[in-house]
Amino acid sequence: MINILQNANLLEYNTFRVNCNAKKIFTYTDTPELIEFIKQNRSEKFLPIGDGSNILFANDYFDGIIVKSKATKIEIIDENEDFLTIRAEAGVNWDEFVKFAVENNWGGIENLSLIPGTIGAAPVQNIGAYGMEVAESIKEVEWINLENEQEQILDKENCKFAYRNSIFKNELKNKAIITAVKFILSKKPIFKINYSELKKELESYNLLNLQIIRNSIIKIRQNKLPDHNIIPNAGSFFKNPIISINKANELKHIYKDIAIYNLPDKEKVKISAAYIIEKAGCKNIETNGVATYHKHSLIVINKSTQKGLDIINFANEIKEKVKEKFEIELEFEVNIY
Ligand code: FAD
Ligand code: NAP
Repeated sequence: MINILQNANLLEYNTFRVNCNAKKIFTYTDTPELIEFIKQNRSEKFLPIGDGSNILFANDYFDGIIVKSKATKIEIIDENEDFLTIRAEAGVNWDEFVKFAVENNWGGIENLSLIPGTIGAAPVQNIGAYGMEVAESIKEVEWINLENEQEQILDKENCKFAYRNSIFKNELKNKAIITAVKFILSKKPIFKINYSELKKELESYNLLNLQIIRNSIIKIRQNKLPDHNIIPNAGSFFKNPIISINKANELKHIYKDIAIYNLPDKEKVKISAAYIIEKAGCKNIETNGVATYHKHSLIVINKSTQKGLDIINFANEIKEKVKEKFEIELEFEVNIY
């Protein structure tokens, strides 16, 4: 079933709660309806969105059509003793999917509990948390190619997944609408509990299961992160920087308490963006109703503005201060339109 809203307000479609109107919002449940609509509107610019928890509209008008999936089917398409392949449509709420998997004791995505958003957006930035990334469980991504209106499938290897990155943020940016994702989940889960905060939270348990891990993650997140339904935000505004080992050693010399995390690429390491943001003097700062969250400086919160530009200006202010102090160029994680 389709629905088209003309000159639609997007305030309820982005978790930063900024004001913006779009030419149209098109919602759909069946892929053939989506393809037909794209064919009829070839000259238009399309922007697929999920729950708007990782986007920021820069201006008060988006000159294009917002495409939103309301398709919510989940089906098991293959299984054996050890694994199952499960397909979920783009409109499924991400955390509902994690909950469903955990309740069935299917492992692979439990550390990604309580991440806001939809299945369709999960591969885009390869959502990750507490030592797990969604790419580890993805088999294939189904998508519509906006250049030829064809349904296509990309297997995991061709999705070019990386830290908060994928082909959908690069070569296929503005060219793809993801319609469904196939996951491989494990019936004999191997727990990933090395992340220090999680390890600490689980110390009191003698026996672990997926539900305990999920509950612990939810508890940690609820203590530390703002609920976007109450305090508008889009999660981490910046990516955690990946820097050279030499640069990290220089920093460690000056900042003895800086945490440095190894990466598969032995030449590079990851540091906490929140740490350098705070050292650059941006803890608890506020301009034009935009602020850093008091419990977590990586999260930019909207206290009172309706203008996306105020948030971008604020983020650029942080970027400049970090650059000046550390010669590190912070990259936006939030997608700006
Ligand atoms: P949207 O914000 O609507 O879209 C995000 C991007 O994906 C946009 O570029 C959009 O065009 C594109 N997109 C959306 N749907 C489709 C589609 N069907 N086809 C093609 N492109 C599409 N992220 C993490 O990785 N880890 C976290 O721990 C985490 N924690 C968060 C905590 C909070 C409080 C908040 C507010 C956000 C957090 N995020 C986190 C960011 C966000 O939840 C994820 O990026 C999520 O996947 C976004 O889903 P969405 O449906 O809201 O996508
Ligand atoms: P944190 O624990 O304060 O850690 C900050 C940084 O240290 C991140 O770069 C994190 O990497 C890294 N790190 C910490 N422990 C690590 C380990 N054992 N091995 C490798 N890297 C480690 O992070 P936080 O901000 O409170 O968030 C907790 C988790 O939720 C993180 O995984 C974070 O990415 C995720 N999260 C993401 C968003 C978002 O919007 N993207 C919002 C909130 C939370 P990683 O980022 O790779 O984990």
